[in-house]
Amino acid sequence: MFQNLKNAEDSYKREKTLIENNKDFVSRNNKKMLLVWMELSGLLFFILSVSAVIVSHISSRFIVYFLIFCASVLMWIVVRKSNRGGVILFCFYVFMEIAFFFSAYLSIYVNNFSLSASTLGLICLIPTTVIDRYKRVFLITFVNVLLLCFATWYFKEPDLAFDDTINFVSFSIVGFFVGMHIRSRILLLFEYQRISKLQSYRDFLTQLPNRRKLFEDISLSEKGKVKNVVTSAIMVDVDFFKAYNDSYGHQQGDKCLKEISACIKKFGEENNVSFYRYGGEEFIGLGSIHSYEDVGKICEKLRKSIESLKIPFEKSSTGFVSVSQGYAEISRNKAPGYAKLINMADSALYASKRDGRNRVTGFNEDIILIDGVDTSDLTNLSTRYSARTRM
Ligand code: GH3
Ligand code: MG
Ligand code: MG
Repeated sequence: MFQNLKNAEDSYKREKTLIENNKDFVSRNNKKMLLVWMELSGLLFFILSVSAVIVSHISSRFIVYFLIFCASVLMWIVVRKSNRGGVILFCFYVFMEIAFFFSAYLSIYVNNFSLSASTLGLICLIPTTVIDRYKRVFLITFVNVLLLCFATWYFKEPDLAFDDTINFVSFSIVGFFVGMHIRSRILLLFEYQRISKLQSYRDFLTQLPNRRKLFEDISLSEKGKVKNVVTSAIMVDVDFFKAYNDSYGHQQGDKCLKEISACIKKFGEENNVSFYRYGGEEFIGLGSIHSYEDVGKICEKLRKSIESLKIPFEKSSTGFVSVSQGYAEISRNKAPGYAKLINMADSALYASKRDGRNRVTGFNEDIILIDGVDTSDLTNLSTRYSARTRM
């Protein structure tokens, strides 16, 4: 018994974490379900309202049908416009309560000489369609069933009320457990999707976001779909890394890249720059709200941070591993041509390499952009290091 309670508590905690991790998926799922429910109910109650006008013996129900039709349309409009999980859940429960009490009104009050079949259907369906914490679903189901039991004993013959009570309780138990099972399957699916998306965006060796994520973020920024539009780019390249591998072996090379990446990651978080592994021993940082001078200062700080890691490299002039950087900045108001921005930073990186490495260069009018690069396609930036300086 205690073990079962503990298991229930564990699964509650797990469900809570899964719902929090997948908030967007969950509210999108609830929204979709609710919209379908309301479209169906809008259509049904529109037909019922028209029927109540035509068929005289149900005309007294017109006002109830019509009110539910109006509520369905109104909520459909609210839910369509809202993207907030809390609002969608609230509407879900309000709508379900309306459906619940309407079915109870029909089968317990209006038609009190037969069993409440439609209410039983709802008791079963509600917990299976909404994704919410099971304690809340349980509480709402429990309160509804309790109210239904009171109502059925009040309005119906004891024999029917007894059968209704048994049905209400057993259907709510079935609905609750089937619902829990369905919810946990859906939540696990969302979690797998989330994790595989995260993995597809992360570079395995360095744990930095990869090139795929870079292009996706750039595309979002280009479309203006992010809070802070990208205005600056920093290209970072480890100096003489081929020679490092040749001297210490590839495994040590990997270790070195990991150490540099961890430093870059931490540095990026502290300085509001998002760093990605661009490929090989190259990294790219994207930032916003930094001026050209500020980006230069940030690059110099990063250069020093990597230098201070003091990773031994005997062939380097300093005796330690170093990086060269190139940066570029575009004004916030100009249309962001990101392919060009990255091309500019890349050209400046080349200038750093050519001028002796372990240094920072900002793109300026003296630097000619890398030749042969179609700036409309970022993937063409592999044509590297052909930048020149104007004489
Ligand atoms: P430069 O100063 O001009 O940048 O010289 P470099 O030797 O760093 O540049 P180059 O492009 O000639 O060589 C890059 C090297 O980086 C070659 C490749 O073996 C190494 N490299 C790329 N990715 C990895 C990796 O994931 N692990 C290891 N160990 N080495 C890598
Ligand atoms: Mg390189
Ligand atoms: Mg290099």
